[in-house]
Amino acid sequence: MTTTDASQQLFDRAAAVVPGGVNSPVRAFGAVGGTPRFIASARGPYLTDADGNEYVDLVCSWGPMILGHAHPAVVEAVRDAAGRGTSYGAPTQGEVELAEEIVGRTPAARVRLVNSGTEATMSAIRLARGFTGRTKIVKFAGCYHGHVDSLLAAAGSGVATFGLPDTPGVTGATTADTLILPYNDVAAVETAFDEHGTDIACVITEAVPCNMGVIPPLAGFNALLKRLCERYGALLVVDEVLTGFRASRSGWFGIEGVPGDLMTFGKVMGGGLPAAAFGGRADIMDHLAPAGPVYQAGTLSGNPLATAAGIATLRHATDEVYAAIDRSAEIVSKAASEALEREGVPHSVQNASNLFSVFFSDAPVGDFAAAQRQDTKAYAAFFHAALERGVYLPASAYEVWFLSSAHDEEALGRVLDALPHAARAAAQAAS
Ligand SMILES: *Cc1c(COP(=O)(O)O)cnc(C)c1O
Repeated sequence: MTTTDASQQLFDRAAAVVPGGVNSPVRAFGAVGGTPRFIASARGPYLTDADGNEYVDLVCSWGPMILGHAHPAVVEAVRDAAGRGTSYGAPTQGEVELAEEIVGRTPAARVRLVNSGTEATMSAIRLARGFTGRTKIVKFAGCYHGHVDSLLAAAGSGVATFGLPDTPGVTGATTADTLILPYNDVAAVETAFDEHGTDIACVITEAVPCNMGVIPPLAGFNALLKRLCERYGALLVVDEVLTGFRASRSGWFGIEGVPGDLMTFGKVMGGGLPAAAFGGRADIMDHLAPAGPVYQAGTLSGNPLATAAGIATLRHATDEVYAAIDRSAEIVSKAASEALEREGVPHSVQNASNLFSVFFSDAPVGDFAAAQRQDTKAYAAFFHAALERGVYLPASAYEVWFLSSAHDEEALGRVLDALPHAARAAAQAAS
């Protein structure tokens, strides 16, 4: 057995001073049980925990680390920036360069830098409402856009219902203007526009839903959203916080080519530091203060360390980097599928370019309701058997398995060696 005493001690200390011992819920291993590993350092494709155990990292900070950990160019850029001061509360060249990198790769004509994906989607929604003068927003069940109050809404019992608060602390009034629809359901979207079209400020969607496992949009689904928004004078907000600069150099837009009127970015663009952005059409973005009347601000927005890490990451994310990640994703997803197949564990591996997840479910998953039919007990056993063999998978069956260009033969080899053991454990636990 791997020793986890040091992690356990830190977790106990953390629990006394931090709710649940963690600063973001999935880190607590609540869905899989056991002691969350406290990470002491990371390099390339590897994490080292407080007990000195090394793992091949298939989480990559939930997406950002496409070049692997502690990439020399990123470390150098951050060190250099830190030496020049960590924050000024005044504009910098780095902000211009990071904005230019994003505008150069995406349909966004202007971007505003913020500190988290949550801030990006929250601000995009406010701007959409301010620009259109409308109140209602549409979101899809199972799509995650950060912990924005109006987006923490659960579907009621009907097919298309205004949201109910998904968590205590969000009021019914806040979610009452959020219409929740099942993903990939063309008829539901058409009906919603039929009934509420002229009240809808925006539709927000993940470019590819990745936060309920990977559920690719049906062919034409995103284009249909765009068309309906245009017809009714609503805005399409495409959330590329996860897919942006990861699915391809230009995110999911680089693959499917459906532009959002507004788009949100995060994760990769910060290179592991807190940076995110929302952007879009110039006429819409120019409604933001100080150019326009819609207020939005941030003391640390466009922070010099974060912009330095983001610029270095995007500039080093060459075509070869994406080719390597595409190849590794194919190798690992195929090996996972084969290992589970051999043990007779029902599963469905789904991907959208290099983004993939493994559903512990016997049928293809097209929406949130189907994703919830997974055997999460089998996944927990799979997860722990992999961890025991030095492979750090997402601590939830609803997440993407992330790779980086630093995942070389050796790291991938360790993953391929661990998968059959993990599959065997899953078979024993399968209900
Ligand atoms: C991670 C994520 C967010 C939230 O970003 P944070 O930086 O965690 O606030 C929003 N949308 C999507 C699609 C995400 O994957």
